[in-house]
This record gives sequence, structure tokens and C-alpha cells, in this order.
Amino acid sequence: MAVEKPQWRELFSEVVTSGLCTGCAACVIACPHPVLEYETDNGAYKPFHLDLDGGPDDCTHGQKGCTMCTRACPRFRNWESEIDIQRFARERTADEVWGVGDVLLARATDESLVENGQDGGFVSALLIYVLENDVVDAALVSGLEGDGSTWHAVPMVARTRDDVVTTAKSRYTYSANLLAYEEAVEGGAERIALVGMGCLASAPGAMQARKAGKVARRLSLTIGLLCSKTFDDSIFEKLFEAQYNIKRADILKMNIKGVFQLWTKDGGFHEIPLKEAQPYTREGCTLCPDFAAEHADLSTGGIGAFGDWTLVIVRTDLGRELLSAMKEKGLIETRPGDDDPGAVALLHKLARVSRKRWPETAVPGPRRLPVTPG
Ligand SMILES: Cc1cc2nc3c(=O)[nH]c(=O)nc-3n(C[C@H](O)[C@H](O)[C@H](O)COP(=O)(O)OP(=O)(O)OC[C@H]3O[C@@H](n4cnc5c(N)ncnc54)[C@H](O)[C@@H]3O)c2cc1C
Ligand code: SF4
Ligand code: SF4
Repeated sequence: MAVEKPQWRELFSEVVTSGLCTGCAACVIACPHPVLEYETDNGAYKPFHLDLDGGPDDCTHGQKGCTMCTRACPRFRNWESEIDIQRFARERTADEVWGVGDVLLARATDESLVENGQDGGFVSALLIYVLENDVVDAALVSGLEGDGSTWHAVPMVARTRDDVVTTAKSRYTYSANLLAYEEAVEGGAERIALVGMGCLASAPGAMQARKAGKVARRLSLTIGLLCSKTFDDSIFEKLFEAQYNIKRADILKMNIKGVFQLWTKDGGFHEIPLKEAQPYTREGCTLCPDFAAEHADLSTGGIGAFGDWTLVIVRTDLGRELLSAMKEKGLIETRPGDDDPGAVALLHKLARVSRKRWPETAVPGPRRLPVTPG
């Protein structure tokens, strides 16, 4: 019997057009031929096959045996269990709603990183540590284009402390950070850290599980961001400006803590009910089952009672090693997850809500939940 070699044709029908595609761009960066591109116009955030070498729904390189795009895709077929096994040497159990790992709270000891970061500045401290201590050569992060006044989030490469500091904090529109991979490699990076929400954070594991060559080897550290959804760019004009008279150029910082919080440059603070933001949910997020960035080495979030702490789920040996090295060097302080039982309960609840989004028409794994409610 011939061995199946799933290629763009299968990816296109099973992921891109079925609604499972998150727009993570893993297929685009893994493709060894110049046939896949990425569309961001009109909030699309989707890969597409150029109208050559097989056309939009097939690929002549795939017909000849290339399978790179399906190997890279963290939503293709049994992605979750394949990556679980690659990462943790076992599949997660139904009770592990937010994945495998231990929860703690952490914050940078450098107050300027806390002040400049979204929550406890933990991600910034970690990035600076791995860049300055020869753990990685570059990191794929997200920054704002130009002077920041458009609030358009774009993938960027961070190589220095300054790069990390200028790209800190959260934007809630999509940024396919993997698209900065080529720039990092062109700059000579061989060991690359990826920062990203669950959709992005599962890509290195997918590539490693399915042996997607050099890209898989280079993505050597994954820092996850907890995430329920991202929003279309139109939220700035249609909601913030039209309903609340807040122009994008005037926004200083944003956060989501049960409500959309916006700080403006004139010292103002505004809260917008999340219900009003729902219509602007990005299409690629609607079927996403992963709140907790389940395949990252460390996942980070801002839920909890303590605003200037980052909730951290440490998942892999590499994650544990980095955490203890930073603690030993006095770069972070930590406290047990038990200090904030409300945060752990909320993590569980939000992860559960996301898992229910995975459609029944796809493989059952990501919908698996414990029998008991909660
Ligand atoms: C779209 C999005 C949704 C989120 N949703 C939740 C949530 O529902 N609940 C929760 O607890 N936490 C959520 N988070 C995580 C939270 O906002 C913080 O990123 C996390 O707690 C780390 O805080 P920090 O101070 O340690 O990070 P910082 O030190 O400020 O570093 C943040 C890092 O995130 C990167 N980043 C910023 N925006 C984006 C983006 N749009 N796409 C990719 N990378 C980006 C930055 O480049 C930086 O490297 C979300 C983050 C994002 C980006
Ligand atoms: S989920 Fe990511 S890798 Fe899969 S098809 Fe979409 S953009 Fe490509
Ligand atoms: S909800 Fe978050 S993790 Fe899921 S697809 Fe959207 S951005 Fe990615």
C-alpha cells in the first residue's frame, strides 16, 4: 500500500478552508519552495498558495513528495497528541484541562521591566536572560509598526535588551511572530526563541514531532501567552473610536481583565465591556481550543489577584532549568500558585471554555474534558 504523503492539497481542504486554520504561518515558514504566502489584508491572516505550481488548492512540489507544510501545521490531524508525546513523552489526560505543567507566579526583580511589561515583566526578563546568556541568538516577538500610533502589531526579531524592552506589553490584534523567522536566520541566528499565543506556541512542537528539518531544530525555546482570542484591527475604528471617541493614536496601553482596559496618553483610563468587543473576534480564533499555550516550554498570563505578577505554567525540563537559573541569579522572584487559588480556578475555567470550541467534525482529542464539571 502506498504511504500517504499529505501536502498543501490536504492542508488546504482539512485546515485552511475548514476553519481550523489559526493563521500561525508555520506552514509558510517551513515551505522550502516560493509558493506559499501570507495574507493580512482585511483581517484575513491566512496562508495561500500562489496561482502557480498547482494553483490555489494543490501543489506540484507536494505531488512529487514534499510534505513540509503539513508537518509544520499545529492544527493538522492529530496535532495535539503528536505534540504532547514529543514534548512530554505522553498524551495529556482529560483532567489536565490546561495541559501538562505546574503553576506559579513570577515577576522580574528589575522594577523597570515590571513597569514596562504587561503583567510581571516575566517574559521580558526571560528573553533578556536567554539572549544575554548564550541560550538563544534571537527571539521572534511582536512589536508595533512605525512610531506605534497605528497600533498595528507586527512580527519582529529581538536580539538585545533594548529590542525586548521596546516590544514588551500585549497587543490584542494578531501577530504571526513566526513570520520574523527568516529575518532572524538571515541575521545568523541558529537558536531561536518564539513568543506567542497557543496557536503559535504549538508550531515548534509540531515541526519537531514530524521532523520538519532545520526550522524544527532552530526553534529551540517556546514562550507561550495565555489567550482566549484576538481581535480584528477594525475594533479600533468601529468600537474604540466610534463608540468611545478613543483614537488609536491616543492609546498608551491596553489590557484585558474581565473588561477591555485602555490607558490613554492624556492620563485617561477607560473600561469597555468585553461583550461589546465580541463582534470583532478574529475569525482564526473562533475554533481554537488552546487557552493555555499548552505546548510551550513556559506559558504566561495575567489572570489573578496580583496585577504586577505573571502567572507562569512551567511545562518542560528546559522551562524548569531556565526558571531556576533566573531565580538563582536573582532576576525573578516567584511565589507558589497556591497563593492565588482564584487564578488557578479561572485558568481551569477559561481553558475548558476554549476546548469546547474545537468542532465535533475534527479529531476528538482537543475536545476531551474531565467528566466532572468545573
Ligand atoms: C493576544 C493576547 C491575548 C492574551 N490573552 C490573555 C488572557 O486571556 N489571559 C491571560 O491571563 N493572559 C493573556 N495574555 C498574556 C498577557 O497579556 C501577557 O502577555 C503575559 O501575562 C506576559 O506578561 P509579561 O509582563 O510577563 O510580558 P511582557 O514582558 O510584557 O512581554 C510580552 C511579550 O508578548 C509579546 N506580544 C505582545 N503582543 C503580542 C501579540 N499580539 N502577538 C504575539 N506576541 C505578542 C511581546 O512581543 C512580548 O515579547 C494575552 C496576550 C496576548 C498577546
Ligand atoms: S494553522 Fe498555521 S500552519 Fe496550519 S494552515 Fe493555518 S497558518 Fe498554516
Ligand atoms: S484564540 Fe489565541 S491562541 Fe487561539 S487562535 Fe486565536 S490567537 Fe491563537
